[in-house]
Amino acid sequence: MDLGIRGRRALVCASSKGLGRGVAEALAEAGVDLVLNARGVEALEATAAGIRDRYQVSVVTVAADITSEAGRAAVLAEGPFDILVTNAGGPPPGLWSDWTREDFLRAIDANMLTPIALMQAVLPGMIAKGWGRVVNITSVSVKAPIAALGLSNTARAGLTGFVAGTARQVAGRGVAINNLLPGIHATDRAIALDGAVVKARGISMAAAIAERSATIPAGRYGTAAEFGAACAFLCSEHAGFIIGQNILLDGGATNATL
Ligand code: NAP
Repeated sequence: MDLGIRGRRALVCASSKGLGRGVAEALAEAGVDLVLNARGVEALEATAAGIRDRYQVSVVTVAADITSEAGRAAVLAEGPFDILVTNAGGPPPGLWSDWTREDFLRAIDANMLTPIALMQAVLPGMIAKGWGRVVNITSVSVKAPIAALGLSNTARAGLTGFVAGTARQVAGRGVAINNLLPGIHATDRAIALDGAVVKARGISMAAAIAERSATIPAGRYGTAAEFGAACAFLCSEHAGFIIGQNILLDGGATNATL
């Protein structure tokens, strides 16, 4: 399927690895020019070079912390953008009783206020053009709380509320905003979480992965390529009637009828 977005320009945040990289690859395959971002320069440049080689699209890199005001300003200076994909590292695990006000503020800043600030910055340009797509990478924790990830449950729920209202205010101007909710995907983050289980329980990595895979009806982790393809569709010409949705990509792991 031709996604109808060849020549569009996208900002993909936190995209040198993992899900963000999967999105960048899928958009590049559809002919979209990219601004990529991550904190570490080396992986960012390697990812950008690979994408330029494979897809012959323009790729600008901005090495910056997207959760900082200065980082966001550096990235936004590369605008305007037709497509915005927000993403950042997830908050650390822990116990509900341990987190301080500062822990909550950090998580809310990174996983709620950062994507909101990015949307506030790019939406006026999209509205003026009469076309725009925004996808926020959130988490399955928005629909089904993950006990150890209370900071994520909390901050991402706030973002979800903002999107629910805002998406409906800009839809009439040709701008579609949606959230993609990843379940377990085979990225560095998933491997780090498995590594913690290996350490804590003294089991092998293969056993830790098999145990988590058994909780997913699809029987395996998702891939960054699958995630990227779904996101690229939401950024496509064809997705203009999908507004304010929270779409689970979890292999069926969330046991719910709706
Ligand atoms: P990942 O494999 O660890 O990749 C994270 C990417 O984001 C890297 O390119 C990293 O590069 C960049 N990054 C992290 N913090 C950043 C920041 N402050 N500013 C700019 N770039 C930043 O992680 P992932 O698995 O793709 O996860 C992406 C998001 O999805 C996270 O919020 C995660 O919580 C959420 N999620 C993931 C899963 C999963 O199973 N993978 C499930 C549910 C939710 P640098 O470190 O160089 O900055």
